[in-house]
Amino acid sequence: MTSKHSLRDVLARLEKEGAALGHFNVADHVLFKAVVAAAVQTKLPVLIGASEGEREFFGARQLAALVKTQREELDIPIFVNADHTHSLAKAMEAANAGFDCVGIDFSALPFEENVARTREAVQAIKAVNPAILAEGEIGNIGTGSEIHETAQGDPKTLTTPEEARQFVEATRIDILAPAVGNMHGMLKSMVQGKAKKHLDIPRIGQIKQAAGVFLTLHGGSGTEDQHFRNAIGAGINIIHINTELRVAWRQSLQESLARDPNEVVPYKILRPVVEAVKEVVGSRLRLFHGEVSPGAVASVA
Ligand SMILES: [Zn+2]
Repeated sequence: MTSKHSLRDVLARLEKEGAALGHFNVADHVLFKAVVAAAVQTKLPVLIGASEGEREFFGARQLAALVKTQREELDIPIFVNADHTHSLAKAMEAANAGFDCVGIDFSALPFEENVARTREAVQAIKAVNPAILAEGEIGNIGTGSEIHETAQGDPKTLTTPEEARQFVEATRIDILAPAVGNMHGMLKSMVQGKAKKHLDIPRIGQIKQAAGVFLTLHGGSGTEDQHFRNAIGAGINIIHINTELRVAWRQSLQESLARDPNEVVPYKILRPVVEAVKEVVGSRLRLFHGEVSPGAVASVA
């Protein structure tokens, strides 16, 4: 069975349902298998993401080809995004490889330069295929989906609704990634479950109204469950989870290797790793589609 739905259709449908599309980064085939398995188990659509570093390791065309074959076999919409693309050349590489979405990221540049370079990249990828969705980013949410010692990003650089409106109008992006209290990576205290990220929910609502496009939330790992639900209610359409998958990948790989020091069969060592990452992806997907875990506050803004 082939899914005929476009990424734009799926985002519009989920918005009506009060849900968000889960975006999960993959750097290898183990992570890829885990995300697909979670989508199959939950019967929910997924957006597979790969940053420039992840694409370099996996192969941009190879990843796009895997997503395509998987999409042809499954009845669940599966899409692929070129996450954090920092050059026109890399945006074109992803567009030509068949990515459904390109995350154009010139957010480290001054606003006017970010506008100019994002607009140029949007025009270039739409010339390859007008159906490709273009994402643009403003604000500072730090770099690196890793374990950090200190907080990333700068609270003073949260996106304002006026900036969001100007940026969308000038660049013609389909999806905006704002800075709303989110940050890339996780602190050690977050990995241990002792601390959580908190989002500026009213600001998300104001940005949504001003921008009038789909909104994506980067750096979702370690965010309070109820904040995710409230963020979706305020207008977030896509949520990025990467570090939580990386943590599960490493921990389960260590455990699997330690279980039998004489084991050398890769698929025997790696099968539990796929399972562990699948569990993380599945629980996030269920949350993004309305299942609030027991104990969480019931009301959704
Ligand atoms: Zn990101």
